[in-house]
Amino acid sequence: MPEQKTYDVAVIGAGVFGAWTAYCLRQSGATVALLDAYGPANARASSGGESRIIRMGYGADEIYTRWSLQALPLWKQLFAQAVRPELFQPTGVLWIAHENYQYALDTVATLTNLNVPFEKLSLAELRHRYPQIAFEDDAWGILEPESGALMARRAVQALVEQSQKIGVDFHAAQAVAPANHGHLDAVKTSTGETISAGAFVFAGGPWLSKIFPDVLADRLFITRQEIFFFGIPAGSSQFLPRALPTWLYLRDEFYGMPDLESRGFKVADDHHGPIVDPDTQPRMASVQAIAAARNFITKRFPTLKHAPIVESRVCQYENTSNGDFLIDRHPDFDNLWLVGGGSGHGFKHGPSIGEYVAALVLQHGASRTLKIEPRFSLAAKQSTQNRAVH
Ligand SMILES: Cc1cc2nc3c(=O)[nH]c(=O)nc-3n(C[C@H](O)[C@H](O)[C@H](O)COP(=O)(O)OP(=O)(O)OC[C@H]3O[C@@H](n4cnc5c(N)ncnc54)[C@H](O)[C@@H]3O)c2cc1C
Repeated sequence: MPEQKTYDVAVIGAGVFGAWTAYCLRQSGATVALLDAYGPANARASSGGESRIIRMGYGADEIYTRWSLQALPLWKQLFAQAVRPELFQPTGVLWIAHENYQYALDTVATLTNLNVPFEKLSLAELRHRYPQIAFEDDAWGILEPESGALMARRAVQALVEQSQKIGVDFHAAQAVAPANHGHLDAVKTSTGETISAGAFVFAGGPWLSKIFPDVLADRLFITRQEIFFFGIPAGSSQFLPRALPTWLYLRDEFYGMPDLESRGFKVADDHHGPIVDPDTQPRMASVQAIAAARNFITKRFPTLKHAPIVESRVCQYENTSNGDFLIDRHPDFDNLWLVGGGSGHGFKHGPSIGEYVAALVLQHGASRTLKIEPRFSLAAKQSTQNRAVH
């Protein structure tokens, strides 16, 4: 019998958080196993969607602006290595705010402080540039010209391919929740395999609370989110990326994207939906969500009032109480890390999360200089929801 390999680190979950963590760990010289029960960025995963916004604006939450700024060049570097530059679509990101809306004013201040390029647009400028949007009379805008969209599922799959090229071992396997406490030597898989490692990173996204119900069942809120792609009018250029950026309509809490790769005009409701189970929730669009999306486009994109839905997706946010990520050690283990809580905004930060988690996991002994960011700690996670980070 060949001797069983012991990895430096086993990462459970090949969504955007786990895949970037595995990649960064390997780049730092660690030997790494990456496990996923359903495959990288699978149809049930939160990272499995077609596209995700990458923007720098985060209101007064400078920490996320900094992480986003750090992440974009790393995404582009990955796509260059993979020879897949199209996985970042430089559409620009347009925030549509209303008068005295504090979050948008804070965004302007943070972008200014951190020298992030942006344009502040008056109502007249908005109406002139984007005649396809029906703005209200108190609207104004912030345009981030260098931000855009990441082609999410394919980006994660490209990342896992690149990780394998540099030596990460990918296992199509479901890890079983560890039974003991203290120090973990190995995880078992549902088919009886054993994966041994010095440290374990559980990056199970919306599954984290199913794996560790004692610690997380009342600290993660897994909500159903529905996304629609509306067919644009034949021959129209108004909804193509060159005419329309990725956008966020703050008053209505809807966001979307132009007709990327001719898949349709994307519309998503950012309000949290009902609590669901990521294994079993039905993935067919609901009548209520279709009506809400149709109502929104009728009001804000009236040309598309009767546009057909050409595709839909049902996904889930894995929300923490306030929207801050969860990056901390499991309280019952000295070598098991919990990484998740993307809360509907985590995708873009994958590279920053990967670098941060790799550094945390690989530091040893008394020289541990990198501390867990208090906002990401388990202790900061409450059992009632009060969304503050978007
Ligand atoms: C509809 C929607 C829109 C969003 N829009 C944006 C956006 O525009 N911009 C943005 O930045 N973010 C956005 N987000 C948030 C972002 O997509 C998520 O925060 C991010 O994808 C979470 O990644 P993850 O790796 O934590 O989880 P997942 O992608 O869910 O990955 C977890 C993985 O773990 C695996 N797994 C679970 N349990 C086990 C086990 N026991 N053994 C092995 N494998 C296991 C699963 O199969 C899965 O692949 C959006 C999310 C949704 C749902």
